[in-house]
This record gives sequence, structure tokens and C-alpha cells, in this order.
Amino acid sequence: MAAGAGEHGGGPGPHDADPALADFPHRAPRTRRWCFADQLGPHFLDGPDQPVLLIESRAVLARRRFHRQKAHLVLSALRHRAAELGDRAEFHQVGTYAEALDRVAGPVSVCAPTSWRSRDFVLARRDLQVLAARGFVTTQAEFAGWAEGRGRRRLLMEDFYRDSRRRHDVLMNGAEPVGGRWNLDAENREPPPADGRIGVPEPWWPEEDEIDAEVRADLDRWEADGDVSFVGDDGPRLFPVTRAEALHRLEDFLQHRLGAFGPHEDAMLTGDRWLAHSLLSPALNLGLLDPLAVVVATERSARDRAAAGDLLPLNSVEGFVRQVMGWRDYVWHMYWHLGRDFRHANALGAREPVPGWLAGLDDGAVDAACLSDVLGDLRRDGWVHHIPRLMVLGNYALQRGIDPSAMTDWFHESFVDGYEWVMVANVVGMSQHADGGALATKPYAAGGAYIDRMSDYCGGCRYDPRKRLGEDACPYTAGYWAFLDRTREQLAGNHRMRRPLQGLDRLRDLPAVVEQERLRGTGAP
Ligand code: SF4
Repeated sequence: MAAGAGEHGGGPGPHDADPALADFPHRAPRTRRWCFADQLGPHFLDGPDQPVLLIESRAVLARRRFHRQKAHLVLSALRHRAAELGDRAEFHQVGTYAEALDRVAGPVSVCAPTSWRSRDFVLARRDLQVLAARGFVTTQAEFAGWAEGRGRRRLLMEDFYRDSRRRHDVLMNGAEPVGGRWNLDAENREPPPADGRIGVPEPWWPEEDEIDAEVRADLDRWEADGDVSFVGDDGPRLFPVTRAEALHRLEDFLQHRLGAFGPHEDAMLTGDRWLAHSLLSPALNLGLLDPLAVVVATERSARDRAAAGDLLPLNSVEGFVRQVMGWRDYVWHMYWHLGRDFRHANALGAREPVPGWLAGLDDGAVDAACLSDVLGDLRRDGWVHHIPRLMVLGNYALQRGIDPSAMTDWFHESFVDGYEWVMVANVVGMSQHADGGALATKPYAAGGAYIDRMSDYCGGCRYDPRKRLGEDACPYTAGYWAFLDRTREQLAGNHRMRRPLQGLDRLRDLPAVVEQERLRGTGAP
């Protein structure tokens, strides 16, 4: 979801003394390694023969109302890993993690898991040796060293990204970035092509097998028994559950889609939800792929093709590398750096509950063409790319004052790649500006004009993106002004909001717009 640069200003602060952030050891080869369901790649083990513990916990599924395809993906990935490892893995299908751990003999180690809650759990178990986290490009110590760097007052993603590029020698010519510029984002904000065709083949899709069939039958049965409940549609599995599948998708992206990725990465099209996106975030967040290896493979592929006379646009290559080693790592580290309170930050005082139509992914209840299309894609696939997340779904919640913590839960549950760490930073920080500007220098609020420019939605909509008042007033355009009016005091000190706030004073019909939007509330627009 990340877009644009942020800075570390007010809001929640670091909690370095927290035991969940201790300097854990890095290796424990003579132990059985418990791998959580988002730690499934070989880089979470200390060697090819290390015994493994895998636990499928029904309680984790029952705790939340996940998208059906997310539950399928996680269970399928875990069961495929157990099948792959054969006798090397002890696989428990139980009610809770504790039930399984109580049955295991011998020393067990675990790489630090990915949420405060799960870290607290493993640290409370005296029978577990907790190791440093894996699955990210920069380590906790490297991030801390960078954050505490001499004279550093702001924790900008852009600075972090450059540091990481230098540290790992990615897209570098000696001390300089390849092409002479670090960030080519300005070339990656083009609207959709006029003919609505992005010009890449369909992504490669995995094939389901008998393990998927078992998962599907189990989920059906548990749902019928009332043990779990889901949102969203069941459907063919679209995302990788094994390392082999994840590598296949990576290769397909590098060969057929990467070149077209950059220019239209922010565009939205009614008839093409995949565009040239990599669709790799679920595989990365399940731990099937090591992100540094993905970045290295991307650079190698681009260099090999350039040597063969097939030069890929640098803005596409750099844009993808920035997503993986810049934004993904940055939101991971900020999740920990800003501490436990980060999740509960609510700087704009947003307290509306998530409306039922949104919670239920009920696109049929929605007239607004953009929101209906995005919600429909999410219901069907459990995935939409970063701009529908930020500028359609997140923008709606921001304008309507929906509680940021509740929206974080909603994103976590509704997306196949959603996890606590990624959604707290992306939703509380980036999308809802609830952290008071710790991650983003201004709220990602926009009216219908932005959506009109970046999509083909508005032409077929019953609303008019230019109208803020009346029957056909666009809920995003009107909502934008109502949002500014409601948050004027909190945003007054933000210099990047000075001009938009000044614009409010020029609106003669502002009281009528505000009243119209008050009546509209969070009813399906
Ligand atoms: Fe969305 Fe407004 Fe455009 Fe309709 S007019 S598609 S509600 S931005």
C-alpha cells in the first residue's frame, strides 16, 4: 500500500527495552525448529537436516473472520510444507499452539514471530529458544544502527531504502545508484493506457492438488459446524503455497511482466485487476521467498537481458526493488520501532465502526463504481493492488472517520497477504494518518478527481467526480471536503495541508456539503 515518503514526527515512540525486541541469537542448529505458518521457506532453518515442528492451530482461525481464500492459502501452505519435509517434520493439527508444544520432546527453537502478541507468547514459554527474526532484508540491529545514525532526526523511508541499497550493493554502480537517480517514482504514476490494455500476458496461476481439496473440505466442515466463519468467496487458489510455486511466479513476473510494471503501477482498470503487478506479496509474507534473493534475482535478470540487448525500463526495475527492499522492510521495522501503542494511535479521533457492507465485502450494496469494483475484486480474490487499498478503501475509511484499529483488523482479515505487522504500519500509519505523521507527512485523502485520473471507473458511475453537492455528488469529492472540515484543527500545523485547508474557506457551500456527508455517514455510497 505504501506510496510517497514519510517522516518520523510525533505519535507513538520507540520501546527499545521491550523483551520482544531483545537481541536474540541467530542460530540454534541442534534444535527442532518451530516454523510458524509465515516462516515456511528454507531460510528459516539452520541447515538442510534440521528437524522441524509445524503447528496448525484451529484457535488462530477461529479468532478472526478471515477471507475464505486467506484461510485456504495459509492452511494449504502449512500442509504442503509438512508433506515436503516428510519425516523431518513433526506436524500437529490441534486446537492451540500450547497443546502441540506440550507434546514435543527435546529442545525447540523458533525465529522471532511477526506480531507483538505472538512474540509475547513464545517469550513466555520457557521451553522455547527464541532466535532473531528472519524473512527481511535488513536485520533489527541494522535498522537500529541506521535509525540511531549520527544526526538522524527523521526516519524517512527514502533514506532507509538508500542505506539498504548501499549495504547490499543492489542497483549500484560503485557508490552511485544505477542510472544516477535513487528513485524513479515520478515516472511510475501514469494513468491507465487509453485503450485499457496494459500489454502483458495473464499471470501464471498455480494448479490445485489433493492437499487443496482436503483443505477445502475441512474449511467447509468447520464452517458448517460453526467453529469458524469467513468472509469472501471460495475460489481457485491464485497464490503460491510452495517454494517451487513461488519461484515459478517470480520467474513469470521477471520474464513477462516486470518491464511493464513501473509506468502504470498506480493505475486502476475495471477489466484488469492484475495489471503488471508481481502478485508476490502473499508468497513473501508466507516466508516462501527470501526478499533479498528476490531482489538479487531481479537485478540479475535485468542485467542479463540488458546484456542480450533487451533493456528493461529502469523505472520498472527500481520500482519493484523499492517495493521489496524499501517499503516492505521499512513498514516491518517501523511496526516494532514505534512500539506496542502504535496499533492504538488515533490522532484524528476516528471512532466510527466498520459498516456492515464493508465488513461483509458486499459490493452489491455499493453504487460508487470505484468502490464497488474494488470491493468485488477483494471479495472474489482476497487481493487488490496497493492503490485501490490506499486510495479507494483506505481513503474512504479516512474520510468517513472509521476507527483505524478496526480498519487494521479488517485489512488483516480480508487480504490474503495481510498480517498484523504489515497492516498496522500500512493502515494506522500510511493510510489513516492515525499516528500523527510518524510514517506519512500528510494524510492520503483525495477527492474523485484523483480516482478519475488514475482509473476508468468514473465514466460508468452514477456519481460525478466534479460534484460535491447534490444527488450525483461523488462521495469521495464531497467526503474529502467534509474530512478536511472535520480535521481542520488537527491538521492545521501540517504545512503540507495549508493549501487544502485554505481551499475550505473558499467553499461557499461547505455547510451544505458537510451536512450532506453527515447524513450519508458510513452508509453504502
Ligand atoms: Fe468513484 Fe466518485 Fe468516480 Fe464514482 S465518480 S467512480 S464514486 S470517484
